[in-house]
Amino acid sequence: MDERTYTADVEPGTTVTVAGWAHEIRDLGGIAFLIVRDTTGQIQVKFEKDEMDDELVETGTDVTRESVVQVSGKAEEEPRAPTGVEVVPEEVEVIAEADPELPLDPSGKVDSDLSTRLDNRTLDTRKPEVQAVFEIRSAVLGAVREQFRELKCTEITTPKIVATGTEGGTELFPITYFGEEAFMNQSPQLFKQLCAGGGFERVFEIGPIFRAEEHNTPRHLNEATSIDFEGAFCGADEAMDVAEEIIIAAYEAVDSQCSDELEALGIADEFTVPESGFPRLTYEEAIEKVNATGELDDVLVWGDDLSTEAERALGEVVGEHYFITEWPSEIKPFYIMDESDDISTGFDMMHPSMELVSGGQREHRYEQLVEGFRQQGLDPEEFDYYTKMFKYGMPPHAGFGMGAERLLMTMLDLDNIREAVLFPRDRQRLSP
Ligand code: ATP
Ligand code: MG
Repeated sequence: MDERTYTADVEPGTTVTVAGWAHEIRDLGGIAFLIVRDTTGQIQVKFEKDEMDDELVETGTDVTRESVVQVSGKAEEEPRAPTGVEVVPEEVEVIAEADPELPLDPSGKVDSDLSTRLDNRTLDTRKPEVQAVFEIRSAVLGAVREQFRELKCTEITTPKIVATGTEGGTELFPITYFGEEAFMNQSPQLFKQLCAGGGFERVFEIGPIFRAEEHNTPRHLNEATSIDFEGAFCGADEAMDVAEEIIIAAYEAVDSQCSDELEALGIADEFTVPESGFPRLTYEEAIEKVNATGELDDVLVWGDDLSTEAERALGEVVGEHYFITEWPSEIKPFYIMDESDDISTGFDMMHPSMELVSGGQREHRYEQLVEGFRQQGLDPEEFDYYTKMFKYGMPPHAGFGMGAERLLMTMLDLDNIREAVLFPRDRQRLSP
């Protein structure tokens, strides 16, 4: 289709061929309109019944909604047309006819529930406000990659089929690997560390993570996309700086490249790029602030993890992106380095509504690392492939994992994380 013109590029006074979906057919008697929609927008095609060939009129006006059509004709200025231009057709071809019974209405006049939408995602993403989320997702991932490169990081991809889990056994998906038990990777954690110590120094990965979360929540997926960073000769503070830069780069890209999409989502006016210098609260300050709100039934004490309610209460007080640092060692994973006896270098970055990032400096000392495995109830022997490399010159290093869907969800104020994934995997959903 080399002579095809996108609807947004149609100029009055030219002869064009447009192709797309039959968005709407409006028959006003003597005159009828077919609205053709493509990825760039829509255009009106005008049929004057008395003046045009009957067969042409019939093809263009009897077509079922969402059929794929190709229209050739003259583009003319028409102030009353939605885009100020219309096509007077000379040829109309139905390329792929749609069943008249549509499972959902891409024109958006009839609402569908999320489940129906996800079952029929191909129709669903034809809606501008749904497509907008994924155009923004694409811009975000592009900006994140670019920013990491700017920061001299090497893009890596690590295995998703692994022999051992990282975050303990409960959230693992077991699979059979040629008769042996294997797992879907929960995080690239161990592999990215092996690469940071492997001469690359600064690496990043954008890839899937798999978590057998038992419950459906609005912010958990069983397959999510993790934006991971690991830097040799970095400490937790530098890893926090990088996390902040990545978030800001993502927002800036959306702000500058995605105004139509923000408009389609109805959030163009309130969209703001977060300011750098996210507040850094210690864990102790964080639980004090939560307790001071008086909003929780139980007072938080040292060693408690922050519940969803606690995160919300704190988010309301802080009101912007922020970090929580100096977590108790006991609630951070074994591979995180301790700062003192009971305080770790682990940090979380929070959006006022939820956790976006977890990171920290890693334990790079062999003896302490192996001891950490034992304390976590894991058999260090099983992780020999990993721990062994710490005997051969492992520099101090730090990094983080950031949930791409949570970033989008919080950026676009989506009320369910599934809105940020084309084909989400959750407790009930394995297809499409
Ligand atoms: P939470 O406590 O919110 O369940 P987590 O602390 O278990 O998250 P981490 O292991 O710290 O998650 O993973 C790093 C980041 O990856 C999280 O901050 C989050 O943005 C994202 N993430 C983790 N698990 C999921 C999931 N099941 N669905 C979507 N995103 C996730
Ligand atoms: Mg976490």
